[in-house]
Amino acid sequence: MMKNTLNFVVTKKLDGTLARTGIITTPNGTIETPAFIVGGTQATVKTLTPEQVLELGGQSILVNAYHLMLRPGAEIIKAASGVHKFMNFTGPIFSDSGGFQVFSLGMAYKKGIDATSHSTKGDASQAVHSKSQLTSVTDEGVHFRSHLDGSKLFMTPEDSMEIQHLIGSDIHMCFDELTSPLSGRDYVKKAMDRTHEWADRCLSRHNELNDTHLKNGEKSQALFGVVQGAREEEFRKISATFLGQRDFDGFGIGGVFEPEEISSTVRWVNEILPDYKPRHLLGMGSQPADLFLGVQYGVDTFDCVAPTRQARNGALFTYDGRINIKNSEYKNDFTPIDKGCDCYTCKNYTRAYVHHLMMANEILGLTLASIHNERFVVRTVDEIRESIKNGSFFKYKKEFLERYYGKNDAKRFFNSIY
Ligand SMILES: [Zn+2]
Repeated sequence: MMKNTLNFVVTKKLDGTLARTGIITTPNGTIETPAFIVGGTQATVKTLTPEQVLELGGQSILVNAYHLMLRPGAEIIKAASGVHKFMNFTGPIFSDSGGFQVFSLGMAYKKGIDATSHSTKGDASQAVHSKSQLTSVTDEGVHFRSHLDGSKLFMTPEDSMEIQHLIGSDIHMCFDELTSPLSGRDYVKKAMDRTHEWADRCLSRHNELNDTHLKNGEKSQALFGVVQGAREEEFRKISATFLGQRDFDGFGIGGVFEPEEISSTVRWVNEILPDYKPRHLLGMGSQPADLFLGVQYGVDTFDCVAPTRQARNGALFTYDGRINIKNSEYKNDFTPIDKGCDCYTCKNYTRAYVHHLMMANEILGLTLASIHNERFVVRTVDEIRESIKNGSFFKYKKEFLERYYGKNDAKRFFNSIY
């Protein structure tokens, strides 16, 4: 098979760290890295048009195979000539396998345990996939229920590859088993071993599907292996070694992280993964600090739905920290959300106007708030990229985090300078 699906060139490395800049080239365009990949779960960035996403500097988006498989169905997207045409986004598109959602939403259906919880409290036995949680795992695949209507479904790693190929995104993720933060070490090991077996099955089916694309004169698609192993250093290193030896186009780093965990977990993995392939941090947290820590320890791309989710709740990023635009203090504040922001919202509207729209439940408020928050995060990663190129990364990191969190609070992100 001709392998010209994805090309990655490292353009600059920051001495003494794992940070680097680079360019990912896909059949649908390039991504300058480090880059923030805008969350487009259901083939839409909530409240924004694709033109607005491009205008705010979004280079690429990430859709979710689980959501699109349930609605509208992967065949519908294939019939529309793929997800780029379907949603009218011309840039590179990532897809997540849906593994995370199969476990987290499947378990959440009818109040099962939420696997996305950060909590480490509680009874570890609850975290094992019991009958009452409606999600059960076998070596073959996962039985789960749709979070939409409760219908029974079964998904194998091969199914996930077929769905992602029908969707036609540029970069796919392997189907992996998610463990809850409450899972014991034995279960984390078992899930990691299964994730590795599934990774081999994903790669094999993926290569067959790419052969078919090339025979039909279609574009081939790329596949990232997904490193698991929860908070366990030993398992993370085993997982990175296992997947790093396989012929993946790049790697996803899975799991749920607190900002303080990013530096260690990501470093264990990225010191082992081949450094000439791109690395994507899957569903990072909602803190700007995550971006700096991720990049410093070798992450090239990030995705997160938090900027738009928080925007819809009125939580807006500013360089001086997050504000809630619904607070009454903004009722007669005729300044922009952030004076230093160059987004469409800040150029044209005031805090008082966005406050008014939010209080009146006007839909435009959600759009203006989302434009601002997405631009804030995209621009921060763009500036991190520039700071690596011109050697000012640590200066920029210190200035940004001290201003955003306050001097004392920012210190917790500096304990582990690499
Ligand atoms: Zn703005």
